[in-house]
Amino acid sequence: MLVVKKFGGTSVADKERIFNVARRCVEEYKKGNGVVVVLSAMGKMTDVLIDQAKDINPNPPKRAMDMLLVTGEQTSVALMEMAMDVLGVPAISLTAFQVAMHTTSVYSNARLKRIDTERIRHELEQKKIVIVTGFQGVNKYDDYTTLGRGGSDTTAVALAAALHADKCEIYTDVDGVYTADPRIVPQARKLNEISYDEMLDLATLGAGVLHNRSVEMAKKYGVELVVRSSLNTNEGTVVKEVTKVERMLVSGVAADRNATRISLIGLEDRPGVAFKLFDIIAKANINVDMILQSIGRDNKKDISFTVDENTADAALKVIEENEKSLRYEKVSVKKNVAKISVVGAGMMSNPGVAAKMFECLFNAGINIRMISTSEIRVTVLVDENDCDRAVQSVHDGFGLED
Ligand code: ADP
Ligand code: ASP
Ligand code: MG
Repeated sequence: MLVVKKFGGTSVADKERIFNVARRCVEEYKKGNGVVVVLSAMGKMTDVLIDQAKDINPNPPKRAMDMLLVTGEQTSVALMEMAMDVLGVPAISLTAFQVAMHTTSVYSNARLKRIDTERIRHELEQKKIVIVTGFQGVNKYDDYTTLGRGGSDTTAVALAAALHADKCEIYTDVDGVYTADPRIVPQARKLNEISYDEMLDLATLGAGVLHNRSVEMAKKYGVELVVRSSLNTNEGTVVKEVTKVERMLVSGVAADRNATRISLIGLEDRPGVAFKLFDIIAKANINVDMILQSIGRDNKKDISFTVDENTADAALKVIEENEKSLRYEKVSVKKNVAKISVVGAGMMSNPGVAAKMFECLFNAGINIRMISTSEIRVTVLVDENDCDRAVQSVHDGFGLED
């Protein structure tokens, strides 16, 4: 059997944790299984490196940034090889370059395209534990790229798919996927299983426990994931295609504090205005999330939308550059907002989820600024100050607590 095991930053934060991970991997190896280990940078190393970079240059070149960030993961895999050597087990650490993990060219947010499996297979045949850097890849210029924050999960799933592994286990600092972030809602309940679609929505909407692209890839290649703790042996959460027939109405609540709302007031109320606005934004390569257009009055209308806070300044810049052709009266930007979402496949056949969510927020005295829905989720925009209370009240209102 071939097993891919991924350990996040807190799981390899210090010497003791590194040996803990090494021992768990050796245990698997001693069962006679092939073991591929994917590691993140130790503890908060990636944040420390980003701070160091910004101290030197507040606007660091993206290529250089990726050159820097990949060192975090390289440190982890090298130390892990050393720890396994102490335990007397043959192991080899490899960077994305040595494996050859090919990505798109975009620095800081590259996508994995193809992984060469030859080197890893060769090392596995030599009966070595193979330790691979998460989060990084190599582009067509032979430069290092990174996959976006939290991207080591995606490295693990991609390796599991490419190697046709029998298991892909994501080890982290919580026991699995919960009905809400257990740091915000201490009474959140651990889910035994969750479908790819629900997990994808939760991950995209702010549940940082899995990188959303890892879930997308797991679904595409049918890789069943287990999310579990590196610090105990509790059963984790299985992420897979079909879950129990009796679906829960709501499987979880997610919060995303990285949203920014941009509003254009007093646009002309005529065909093509929304097209022009979002075309300009799209051409600047900026993703738009929630959109709200007011009903026209006096031949005028307003359009509000949300973007990731990292792209808000760029969005505002292109809007202002196009002020003459967009013809708005005013543009405003609100950064301190948060998106709260409820996700659940059971919503498809049960009306009233949105109403219930609004009732919970009303009872908590929280004002809703924008709303958007899909088949399996309802998302609202609230003030960032209300974020934790909103998650807690919605979680309580749907009876999700343990
Ligand atoms: P790692 O370094 O192992 O990748 P992350 O910090 O990326 O760990 O992800 C684990 C964290 O995700 C948890 O500590 C938890 O606070 C957070 N989290 C957010 N939403 C959820 C959720 N629904 N279930 C479990 N954890 C969640
Ligand atoms: N070390 C990277 C980060 O902090 C990747 C990861 O943890 O998955 O984002
Ligand atoms: Mg993570």
